[in-house]
Amino acid sequence: MTSSSAPLPRIPRDRHDDHHAEIVGRRRSLCEGTASVALPHLGGQPVPHDQARGKVENLLGWAQVPVGIAGPFRVELTQGAREVYVPMATTEGAMVASYSRGMRLLNEGGGARARMVREGLSQHPVLVYDSIEGAQRAAAVAEASLERFQLLASEHTSHGSLARVEPEVLGRRLILRLVFLTGDAIGINMAAEASDRICADLAGRTGARERYVHGQDVEKRANARALVEGRGRSVVAEGVVPRAVLAEVARVTPEQMLAIARTYAAGFAQLGTQNWTIQGANGLAGVLLACGQDLAYLTECATGHLDFDLTAEGDLYASVHLPSLLVGTVGGGSQQGTARECLELLGCSGEGGAQPFAELLGAVVLAGDLSLMAAFCSHEFVAAHERLGRNRPGGGGG
Ligand code: NAP
Repeated sequence: MTSSSAPLPRIPRDRHDDHHAEIVGRRRSLCEGTASVALPHLGGQPVPHDQARGKVENLLGWAQVPVGIAGPFRVELTQGAREVYVPMATTEGAMVASYSRGMRLLNEGGGARARMVREGLSQHPVLVYDSIEGAQRAAAVAEASLERFQLLASEHTSHGSLARVEPEVLGRRLILRLVFLTGDAIGINMAAEASDRICADLAGRTGARERYVHGQDVEKRANARALVEGRGRSVVAEGVVPRAVLAEVARVTPEQMLAIARTYAAGFAQLGTQNWTIQGANGLAGVLLACGQDLAYLTECATGHLDFDLTAEGDLYASVHLPSLLVGTVGGGSQQGTARECLELLGCSGEGGAQPFAELLGAVVLAGDLSLMAAFCSHEFVAAHERLGRNRPGGGGG
């Protein structure tokens, strides 16, 4: 990544054979130079087996998924403006090209802007009582116990902390909603341990007959809380695509984009889906996989909304809201081999990286949705996949 004012060069391509060693090497050198990082593992150097400790049992080897770069992409985050090439691990031909095109659309309007608007990893233990009165009494005890619970949480983590306690009565059960701040980690291990201790403490003091640490199990599933309350890091990204750029690069008008968005909204309403983005899952999966995230959280991460409007000048305003990004730049698989290298490319590795990483993800989703909606509008979607993404057995790729 770079935060200097000189724009990053376009990604080098070879019109005759874009997958041979020389052109792949040129792209890697470009990334190493602009981000000032070495990328040995992306270049094929094996990752020491030891790095898999605590991440997998019965280690057999490493899954290999091709990583491409989209961009360059200009984004303005809470920490300031930066320009990046975005690494995406995927086997879906045409996807990286689609995101690159969306980034170009946004760049031409001055770049995307993204902000984290809420933070907090919630856990939902459930305690069961003999009657509704028991559950109500326990809710009152829980509400009065924030400091006691905070102390319990702090005994086993220095980066995690309990921010809020929000008990909800459900019949004769109590959903003990606990919201944690988790530094730069997803924080699920630290939050689960703290929740278990808090839940046991409350159960002992209020005579619960049963207690379940993941009692209302929101983990790794699309759910109403993910959309309404958010979980992890909630991000909004926005940008403006000038009318002339939309016409030149994507052959559509802002009005056509608004019209297709209305039709999609009608379809999504009928589906009852919590994912109102167009291809959010694609871009998120690509970047999460490249950056060593726990991919099962895609179920929650892909929750969100896309919004199009016209500006006063007649250009296209676009934004996405992703309320439940469960990502970390410390812990889990984020610091091993290629994952660390990809996070470094984005300038988001380690301490201080989680917020800009989440904000960047919002901007990436926005770029992909702009590009795909435009391709649907101009009826170019099928042709692009035919050209870039067909893999007939025996026929080679693309
Ligand atoms: P983790 O790898 O378990 O923990 C990260 C550790 O990094 C923390 O213990 C923390 O130490 C330390 N740390 C150092 N600098 C930090 C910083 N700046 N910000 C935050 N922490 C920092 O990571 P996790 O995010 O809690 O858990 C993610 C892993 O849990 C993934 O591998 C995921 O697949 C797995 N997982 C667990 C569950 C579960 O229910 N337990 C469910 C799903 C997934 P201190 O705590 O001492 O401060």
